[in-house]
Amino acid sequence: MRGIVGENLTGFIVAEYGCAFGSFLKDRNGGKRGKVSVCVGRDSRPSGAMLQSAVTGGLCAVGVDVIDLGIVTTPGVGIMVRHLGCNGGIVITASHNPIQYNGVKLLLDNGVAPPPEQAEQIRHRYFDKHFTFADSPHCGQVTPNEQTDEIHIDKILSIIDKKKIAAKKFKVVLDSINGAGGRPAKKLLAELGCKVAAINDQPTGLFSHRPEPTAKNLTSLCKIVKKERPDIGFAQDPDADRLAIVDENGSYIGEEYSLALAAKYVLGKKKGSVATNLSTSRMIDDIAQLGGVQVFRTPVGEANVAEAMLKHKCVIGGEGNGGVIDLRVGPIRDSLVGIALTLQLMAETGKSVSQLVCEIGGYYMSKEKFVADAEQAQKILNSAKQVFANARLNASDGCRFDFADGWLHLRTSNTEPVMRIIVEAKDKPTAKKYIDAVLKIRKEIQA
Ligand code: MG
Repeated sequence: MRGIVGENLTGFIVAEYGCAFGSFLKDRNGGKRGKVSVCVGRDSRPSGAMLQSAVTGGLCAVGVDVIDLGIVTTPGVGIMVRHLGCNGGIVITASHNPIQYNGVKLLLDNGVAPPPEQAEQIRHRYFDKHFTFADSPHCGQVTPNEQTDEIHIDKILSIIDKKKIAAKKFKVVLDSINGAGGRPAKKLLAELGCKVAAINDQPTGLFSHRPEPTAKNLTSLCKIVKKERPDIGFAQDPDADRLAIVDENGSYIGEEYSLALAAKYVLGKKKGSVATNLSTSRMIDDIAQLGGVQVFRTPVGEANVAEAMLKHKCVIGGEGNGGVIDLRVGPIRDSLVGIALTLQLMAETGKSVSQLVCEIGGYYMSKEKFVADAEQAQKILNSAKQVFANARLNASDGCRFDFADGWLHLRTSNTEPVMRIIVEAKDKPTAKKYIDAVLKIRKEIQA
């Protein structure tokens, strides 16, 4: 659930959402009274405390105990759900969206967002007001817990060689966009013996630039890296599940490389399969091919990738938007995992970020969207299947067509009448060729 605070996202709505989720979990747990607990954390937005209080009220009203984690990262909540053996988790966050937004992200007891069927059940409970209120003695109780950073960082340290990284005494510039990630990232980097220059590290929620970690929003970080000449620059989004990297020359390398670098390190150590969504760069296939392992492609959405990783016991996975998942830490995208694995790769190879990027190679990627209602979108997909009949097709989430010199993913949005085109190819003219072909189909259908 995501919206604009004070407009379509209020304390009343969020309290009822807490009632719905709590009632759902009680049912799922066999209706046992007083046995259900939920971890609740929030990113740093000024509306976070109000919404956290509201959702906590809703949960307690239906007899669910709440563990209050305070301002923590989204992966931190996922880790604490599992660590404390809770029945679910809630993060009050609107991720990379601007300050006026906030949201409620739900996690099940495995630390993963509910799959579509369960999400639908929770939605129904919310709209039908199907809540099972507790009487006074059975109302939920709230317990604070401040251990999230410590447990999160311990898990990360257990998958890397801390001494090897510390020996390099890396210089790092970190931009945490005044979100929840600054505090744990600084602690992690200190453990790894890095010299850190942190910007926007106070969790005020007053974002000093647009919070999505894209090239156009990170010009100040690039400038500082150019001036200070550290080994690497890292940028997180406000709930710290996404990571973007700036190389030692101050160049933004693109979020797709966060997963590519992590995969390069993990697959260099360990043979095992990889899972990622259909819109993620082919770089991951190249890296997997070098390691002789398989890549499982899933519909877009963290829950889908996490589910595939658990099913196929993948050693690394995630999404091309800077979301790295290592199941040894948790089945959730984690910028701290991305930071640690990248530094480990640099330490072990002795190579700079720009050298590693050069080794991985790269493609030209372009994303476009246009207005199309459900009927038009279906017609476009049907027509594209004929036009691109020679390509390898994956139709699990819209259509992804794989060609020898690139790929094209067409998918509709769940929230607006929009069709997205994601294309990646060996060069810009090839990418344009595929985009033009789609736009031609669109023109014929919408004429
Ligand atoms: Mg996020």
